[in-house]
Amino acid sequence: MLTISPISAFDDNYIWMFHAPDSRDVFVVDPGDPTPVEEALKHYKLSLAGILITHHHVDHTGGINVLTKGRNIPVYGPDNENIAGITHTVRDNDTIELSGCQFRIMTTPGHTLDHIAYFTESGESGNPALFCGDTLFVGGCGRLFEGTAEQMFQSLSRLAELPGNTAIYCAHEYTQANLQFAQAVEPHNQMLQKQIQQVRAFRAENLPTVPSTIEQELATNPFLRSNQPEVIQAASNRDSSSNASPVDVLRVIRAWKDNF
Ligand SMILES: [Zn+2]
Repeated sequence: MLTISPISAFDDNYIWMFHAPDSRDVFVVDPGDPTPVEEALKHYKLSLAGILITHHHVDHTGGINVLTKGRNIPVYGPDNENIAGITHTVRDNDTIELSGCQFRIMTTPGHTLDHIAYFTESGESGNPALFCGDTLFVGGCGRLFEGTAEQMFQSLSRLAELPGNTAIYCAHEYTQANLQFAQAVEPHNQMLQKQIQQVRAFRAENLPTVPSTIEQELATNPFLRSNQPEVIQAASNRDSSSNASPVDVLRVIRAWKDNF
């Protein structure tokens, strides 16, 4: 079991920090900025035990150098020689033990080609937890900077098969904008209307809307719903060349979101 909490960074990044409830040794995921991490360690009297990286973008990796200076700690990350400072390269289906919990690595190309996610069956309150970087967001998915719609579809499909109560710890607070787009795609989705109200209340108090759960995302995230009639219809209205396959629907709505 883990205690998991967000450290806010830049405008809308979350650096996730986790530890065993009875330990002061913490891991951080995607520390793009070292400063708020050092502040959190000092404030809560915690000790940095290691770093997890999901992909090479600098807002996820920028803090590695500073945080490892004077600390002999592991840095786990994808097989990408362009990320300086990784000490432990991990690959699909590898398992690693951190804070007494087993984590499974899932490769999730699409946003970038090197993207990976970290899954454990024993996160906060004993529920499964997924650290998925910029692959799956609450109400959305990452932009296709390097991969194809096909790759993103495969990656999201894998994540969608995780247990429904898996908590989704993504790396950005993009929820409100994502749900606004989701509403344009599925104006008749009742669960989505409800989520929009809840998220509005959370953001009015400046509270994180992350984590979500796989169950919630399956009900409202259009990028996990490219087989649903209303989403297929919205895609073909947007782009009449769409062949209505789930991959092509995802391609069309991802391109639509890029210009929304
Ligand atoms: Zn990214």
